[in-house]
Amino acid sequence: MWSKLEISMFRRIIDTEELNKLKEAVAKVSRIVITCHKKADGDAIGSSLALCLLLRNIGKNATVIIPDQLPGSLTFITEGIDYVTFSRNEVMASNIIRNTQLIMSLDYNNFDRVDRMKPWLVDAKVPKVLIDHHLNPSDCFDVKISHPELSSTSELIYRIVDEAGWMDYMDNRVASCLFVGIMTDTGNLSWSSSYPEVYYVMGKLMEFGIDKPYLYKMAMDTVPMNSLLLHSYALLNKTRVIDGKYALIVLDKDDLEKYDYKTGDTERLVNKPLSVKDIYWSTFMREDPDCIKVSMRSEGDLAVDVLCANYFNGGGHMHAAAGEFHGSLADAIAIYEKIVEEIKNKD
Ligand code: 5GP
Ligand code: MN
Repeated sequence: MWSKLEISMFRRIIDTEELNKLKEAVAKVSRIVITCHKKADGDAIGSSLALCLLLRNIGKNATVIIPDQLPGSLTFITEGIDYVTFSRNEVMASNIIRNTQLIMSLDYNNFDRVDRMKPWLVDAKVPKVLIDHHLNPSDCFDVKISHPELSSTSELIYRIVDEAGWMDYMDNRVASCLFVGIMTDTGNLSWSSSYPEVYYVMGKLMEFGIDKPYLYKMAMDTVPMNSLLLHSYALLNKTRVIDGKYALIVLDKDDLEKYDYKTGDTERLVNKPLSVKDIYWSTFMREDPDCIKVSMRSEGDLAVDVLCANYFNGGGHMHAAAGEFHGSLADAIAIYEKIVEEIKNKD
């Protein structure tokens, strides 16, 4: 159990006015829609399902709507919890949005991140709440709880629950979803988590009796065989290292087809080159049907969210960012090479 001293160490960070607005907005309504960004990751789905379950425990009629299909590697979190996938049930999902009384946007900072769900959310004439940890939150929300300094949206949800006085509604399932969200967004507390309070939150979540070894195994150390082979193939045959410091991995549509690529199969591939001493910038390009998906990771002073925003219509965090390029793979690589020259000049 935690002592009074430990509890007092946990800083209250949520703006009181925004927190009160959130509590009032929730108190007033019954039907609530919770959304997260497209190509949901563990934090997006974990924080959304956690908030949904908590609101249901409060007695609300809450529904999670995700923009597109969840990667198979994350379906374990959803076991026994219903949610709606917009791209698969557009009519049903848009009806739920049309009839909702409150929209909550988790783990994304503007409606460009929700794909074809965007017009439905933009046009909805109900209060909209942002709960997120990305930089540059859009101004279109009625309640804005944005904390880019935090590890994850899941940690932020825990803090909101604590500060809103909703802790009685937490349970093992809510805690498990939040634990997975923090674990996946920090590489199991490897990055974006160098402050004591994130460990405090993990400790508090463990008090709900979560099965940590199971959640770790499922979230961090389970992949389908084709994904393992695709990672190996990519590192062996499709990785270029420049000056021993920058790595570029490119998978074209033939590579993806050959290894039976499905959403989520290249998750964490971009991180791999950073294991090599001296490589501090890693880029991964994947030729998707609708765009070239570009993901970047860095260590040290290089801000890849700025690179992704400037060159690939994206954003994210300083050391983990991504974007989409609408053009050919060759053009995307040409842009990358231009950035390399810029960075070499600064090095
Ligand atoms: P990943 O490389 O794992 O797909 O994404 C890394 C980070 O960049 C995540 O924080 C994610 O939310 C953000 N991100 C991913 N794709 C996009 C995108 O298309 N646009 C923006 N603005 N951010 C993205
Ligand atoms: Mn996140």
